[in-house]
Amino acid sequence: MIQQLYPQTNHSFRYELNKDMHLAAAHFIDHQSAGVCQEMHGHTYFINMTIAGNDLDEIGFLVDFKQLKSLIHSRFDHTVMNNHPEFKGVFPTTERIAEKIWGIVQAHLDTLAHSPRCLQVFVRETPTSYVVYRPLAEDFR
Ligand SMILES: [Zn+2]
Repeated sequence: MIQQLYPQTNHSFRYELNKDMHLAAAHFIDHQSAGVCQEMHGHTYFINMTIAGNDLDEIGFLVDFKQLKSLIHSRFDHTVMNNHPEFKGVFPTTERIAEKIWGIVQAHLDTLAHSPRCLQVFVRETPTSYVVYRPLAEDFR
């Protein structure tokens, strides 16, 4: 079980859902300024996503927890981040990983009639380092 306090995102939606997951993945940052991170290495990423909305689906879900896990965990667990099409042309830094996770999750949410929004993605790369990605208003379609 993952238990951790996360930074809060301010909003006035009726419902807020948070999904934690963790996954093992390798990456390398192919840039001379990246130091030792230029070499392939692995992390256990701890991820939290915050989803909010005013309405629920016919089951009473804001979004299905299992669906969120399958969108992200099934895609990235035990893979090399650099090999994913999302990271073609960009380095899989923690910042970019958080941003891409947001894009994948929000693309799924956009297919739901009740229009939930992913307001925040938290990605912890090491015990001492994490990134929070929060989309701008214009990032929503
Ligand atoms: Zn790394």
